[in-house]
Amino acid sequence: MQLARRMERLGTETAFEVLGRARALEREGRSIIHLEIGEPDFNTPPNVTLAGVRALSEGETHYSPSAGIEPLREAIALDQSRRKGIVAGPNNVVVTPGAKPIIFYLMLALLEAGDEVIYPNPGFPIYESMVDFLGAARVPIGFIERDGRFYWDVDDAVGRMTRQTKLMIMNSPSNPTGAVLTPDDLRRLAEAAVANDVIVLSDEIYSRILYDAEFHSIATLPGMPERTVILDGFSKTYAMTGWRLGYGVMPESLAPSISRLITNCDSCTATFTQMAGVEALVGPQEVPEAMVAEFRRRRDLMVAGLNDIRGFQAATPGGAFYVFPDIRGTGMSSREAADFLLYDAGVAALSGTAFGANGEGYLRLSYANSLENLQEALQRIKTALESRSAALVSS
Ligand code: PLP
Repeated sequence: MQLARRMERLGTETAFEVLGRARALEREGRSIIHLEIGEPDFNTPPNVTLAGVRALSEGETHYSPSAGIEPLREAIALDQSRRKGIVAGPNNVVVTPGAKPIIFYLMLALLEAGDEVIYPNPGFPIYESMVDFLGAARVPIGFIERDGRFYWDVDDAVGRMTRQTKLMIMNSPSNPTGAVLTPDDLRRLAEAAVANDVIVLSDEIYSRILYDAEFHSIATLPGMPERTVILDGFSKTYAMTGWRLGYGVMPESLAPSISRLITNCDSCTATFTQMAGVEALVGPQEVPEAMVAEFRRRRDLMVAGLNDIRGFQAATPGGAFYVFPDIRGTGMSSREAADFLLYDAGVAALSGTAFGANGEGYLRLSYANSLENLQEALQRIKTALESRSAALVSS
């Protein structure tokens, strides 16, 4: 079958491919610790699951409006204003099956071939995939390390913003680096966006998985509400990856265009899922809070454990649930190191280059796994690397 040429430009998420290889090893009887997939290992809070089940049994099994049901859009607007100080009502909110479609639909709605897009690299791979797919021009922005922390290279982002820039995508806390933008970073990015008339996609999916600081959204800054689309959702905060529930908060004038794309593709998000989403937002918040406390313990274990391994150097992530160690000291490329961990240590991790070319020299390990498994993974990596060093010395 002859596919359209644009398919050659469509990227993917390597996590699913590595998961497939890890599962194949498990079928051969190998024990693998899974640190490749970006999803909480906790169950959805029981009150949320019950709300979904109740909605199903009460017949909430029909289409809903493309933008989402009113009670959920109202609950989201209220939650965004309480948590982030966003001024929004239900007409600013569009609900989608997972947060990912917001990236796709927004870029589809905005970009003409050749438009410049600033985005993080290393970053969530779907950003670069969509830039390429739509024939837009890549402006990838890397990261810097300071005092054991990663930061997005805001100087570079501001310096490369021009009248040719149509869209800037930012992601704080970041997947894969765990970097968090400071209030001063946000101010500088906002001023440059206003000066150059740039639209901003602020991916805030990890905004509640934050360890050392309060969350600040760029959408609260002067001149930003009318040019910012916030992406957020339920997958990470409420351990609801498989429910597929996310949303965009955007200028009211843009919402009908995004809704029309939904009408063309999904019709709507599953209605019972949306009802579970209302319960997630208005119900008790102890479960997500406990998840963050547990992630913090795991983060501390992983950073300390990785820094104790020769050839690894790990910065402390400020948010999300990934650690992004520098592995150049091992002498391996990122791809070699990821394969070595999988086949020799029995630990599934992702090559830093799965997040773009600037990820070379790094690995991404998700710590959405039990403390016990994380300890075992650290031990396996250490032992496998020591055997490798011994074999290199004796050869
Ligand atoms: N944005 C980032 C940075 C992510 O890491 C992810 C999921 O891994 C998403 C968006 C998509 O989330 P969802 O599963 O709700 O589509």
